[in-house]
Amino acid sequence: MTASPRTFPHRPNMDGTFDAICPDCLKTIATEDTEALLGPSEQNHACNAIEVESLWRGKPFYIRQ
Ligand SMILES: [Zn+2]
Repeated sequence: MTASPRTFPHRPNMDGTFDAICPDCLKTIATEDTEALLGPSEQNHACNAIEVESLWRGKPFYIRQ
């Protein structure tokens, strides 16, 4: 059984750059001039969502940073 690849939402910034956001740990993992440049950073992202999730468990959303 293979894990499906993570899909990273992209967020356009006021200065014309793009952020890639990890859907699991919610970190901004990269900021680049174009969306296409975000790919390598997405593939290299070492996600620690399990650790983050354990820290967040039971806490309200608004303190999730
Ligand atoms: Zn992550």
